[in-house]
Amino acid sequence: AASAVGLAKIYGSGDVAVHALRGVDVAFAAGEFTAIMGPSGSGKSTLMHLLAGLDEATAGRVYLGSTDLTSLDDKRLTLLRRERVGFVFQAFNLLPMYTAEQNITLPCELAGTSVDRAWFGELVGILGLQDRLTHRPSELSGGQQQRVAIARALVTRPDVVFADEPTGNLDSAAGAEVLSFLRTCVRELGQTVVMVTHDPAAAAYAQRVVLLADGRVAGEITDPTPDSVLAGLDALRGAGAPEVAA
Ligand code: ATP
Ligand code: MG
Repeated sequence: AASAVGLAKIYGSGDVAVHALRGVDVAFAAGEFTAIMGPSGSGKSTLMHLLAGLDEATAGRVYLGSTDLTSLDDKRLTLLRRERVGFVFQAFNLLPMYTAEQNITLPCELAGTSVDRAWFGELVGILGLQDRLTHRPSELSGGQQQRVAIARALVTRPDVVFADEPTGNLDSAAGAEVLSFLRTCVRELGQTVVMVTHDPAAAAYAQRVVLLADGRVAGEITDPTPDSVLAGLDALRGAGAPEVAA
């Protein structure tokens, strides 16, 4: 559904240049739930922003389906992003004066498309937001706000939903709830989800973990468990994988 080839990103130039990505090749299959992990500063958010067309690559290509985002002019990119990409932020980023329903349908408003009411109803049902649609964000718990943000990211039926530390501002109970809803969106709606997380327990909700280190893909874990993710992260730090108790 989405992929990157030889993706590089340099912030700034000269003495202050930061090589955030140094040639990343990665692909996310349709209907797959992938977690991206790696040390702070390894380029996770940068990768998500480039994949979602929110920022420009220094080199390499980004594909959404067969469309090369790096070949599009600003207008086409904006259009494609509105219709085919969803993004969930750590800080929810809901509009405070809008109700939950208005927040969820905002992407349709921006894209000038009508809301698919059947899909909206299905999403709201799966995310358990039926009784909260007229509430404003300040009247919702953190977990509910993030569920509204997920519904908003999904409302246009995007090809891919990118979530950058979606549970970072939630306690573990609300985080677990949001993760199981995300997993349900993948399983029952066939949604493709790519999620950045620092939490091995959160990563274990995904079907695959891609490890980033120093702007490069440093490994991959399939069918992750909290233990196998911890071992993978330890190996990244050069500590060697610990023995896993039988
Ligand atoms: P974290 O886990 O702390 O969120 P990350 O893996 O998401 O880290 P990025 O935010 O992608 O890391 O940053 C990668 C590198 O690029 C870091 O060295 C960071 O300081 C730098 N960087 C990120 N955004 C910018 C920017 N807008 N201008 C300059 N440097 C930046
Ligand atoms: Mg980040």
